[in-house]
Amino acid sequence: MRKLDELPFDNTYARLPAAFYSKVSPTSLPDPYLVSFNPAAAELIDLDPREAERPEFVEYFGGGRTLPGAEPLAMLYAGHQFGSYVPQLGDGRAILLGEVKNARGAKWDLHLKGAGQTPYSRGFDGRAVLRSTIREYLCGEAMHALGIPSSRALCIVGSDAPVRRETIETAAMLVRMAESHVRFGTFEIFYYRGLPERVRELADYVIANHFPELVVAEDKYRQFLLEAARRTARLIAKWQAVGFAHGVMNTDNMSILGFTLDYGPFGFLDDYHAGFICNHSDHSGRYAFDQQPAVGLWNVSRLAQTLVNLITVEEATAALEAYQPAFAAHYGELMRAKLGLATEAEEDAELLLSLFGLLEANGVDYTNFFRRLGNFTTTGDARHDELRDMFVEPAAFDAWAARYRARLLAESSADAARKSRMDQVNPKYVLRNYLAQNAITAATERRDYTEIERLLETLGAPFTEQPGREAYAESPPDWGKRLSVSCSS
Ligand code: AMP
Ligand code: MG
Repeated sequence: MRKLDELPFDNTYARLPAAFYSKVSPTSLPDPYLVSFNPAAAELIDLDPREAERPEFVEYFGGGRTLPGAEPLAMLYAGHQFGSYVPQLGDGRAILLGEVKNARGAKWDLHLKGAGQTPYSRGFDGRAVLRSTIREYLCGEAMHALGIPSSRALCIVGSDAPVRRETIETAAMLVRMAESHVRFGTFEIFYYRGLPERVRELADYVIANHFPELVVAEDKYRQFLLEAARRTARLIAKWQAVGFAHGVMNTDNMSILGFTLDYGPFGFLDDYHAGFICNHSDHSGRYAFDQQPAVGLWNVSRLAQTLVNLITVEEATAALEAYQPAFAAHYGELMRAKLGLATEAEEDAELLLSLFGLLEANGVDYTNFFRRLGNFTTTGDARHDELRDMFVEPAAFDAWAARYRARLLAESSADAARKSRMDQVNPKYVLRNYLAQNAITAATERRDYTEIERLLETLGAPFTEQPGREAYAESPPDWGKRLSVSCSS
């Protein structure tokens, strides 16, 4: 266990040529205080959790002090936002403090979000508000616990400094952790600037640091793209299976390592709605829930394009062609598991599609339906009623249930064993928007941060029944339904 000032930094990104970033220090927040600290993330960098109690902690992570060994910088990138290329974005309000290597040899970026203006702020204030840092903090941890690759978060440091959004809010900084903050857009900026050597340098850097097994391969760039395509496909399959809508799948928010990055106006499905749009600014529904798999491929295509000087068109095409099968295979596997099916049958796709139709028509809660489906019995006892009561038209569910029952009997499915399998994959607790909103209201209106802690704890064990916490599994009250969240953060 290490002290704050003993963290072993190994800043590989800072050793790249200056063309990839701007060295810049955080702008401190006045009178910083600790809002929340996440010991699980501290463990990833071998940080002694007692360090959070030291007054220096909020100085380091409120931008007031530089950690020994850190080399703060803002990363340069561009990206396609809502389909249009924006030639320069970059870390406008986040600063990569450095990379900490843990005792197991894994490396974690410490990325301070809301750290003040950088050369890439484009006239914006460089700040983040407490509201949005709470959402990102909770969701990264919730996704991780759900088994979905994600950035993590170490802590939130708050301040009473005012920040103007739609209204006046207060500022906060989030320490985000990830293996890398390289995005599709990091490749795009050098490609569109006509700098193929920089693209190659970046690809070599990513391969050396994150795909070391490819370094000696003759076709390393081809394999790298193929792997990025597959990881993206598998990530989005996981989003679809759990009912997660990212909200802003711009290429600057797409991780090159295929984990969930940049939590803004995201949302989990409450009642099942395929066309769910969680981002208030997404007027065309480009990033609607059911569009995500296709957008993922479109985004990987943008990445592929940047590699034209490193691979052949045929190789790029082959990598893109691998996306859909990778998505379909993983999605199929995940959804069969959610249904408790141990084997694969041709009728499964139809069974699932008709279920989605029923869930949507009856406004049934996605998460709770699958969790309760674990109680389904092939004999059809009283527990069947618990499920059919979720439907406005129970008879329609009965017809589906008969097919499902037949399907289970065909593979001689045993009720108890199936339930225990299903409970491992159908979460009871997800970060519903209204739950996040309750924690935000308590924090911003009453300086009460206990709800953040409770959520962190509850969502940290999403598959476990937690007596006394049943309320966190409830579908939203009227005010919390289909919340669409503003992009302003
Ligand atoms: P996002 O939509 O959060 O992924 O942000 C898109 C781009 O806008 C990124 O380059 C951010 O760094 C930048 N950005 C967002 N909010 C701010 C802000 N308040 N100040 C400076 N840059 C920002
Ligand atoms: Mg972003």
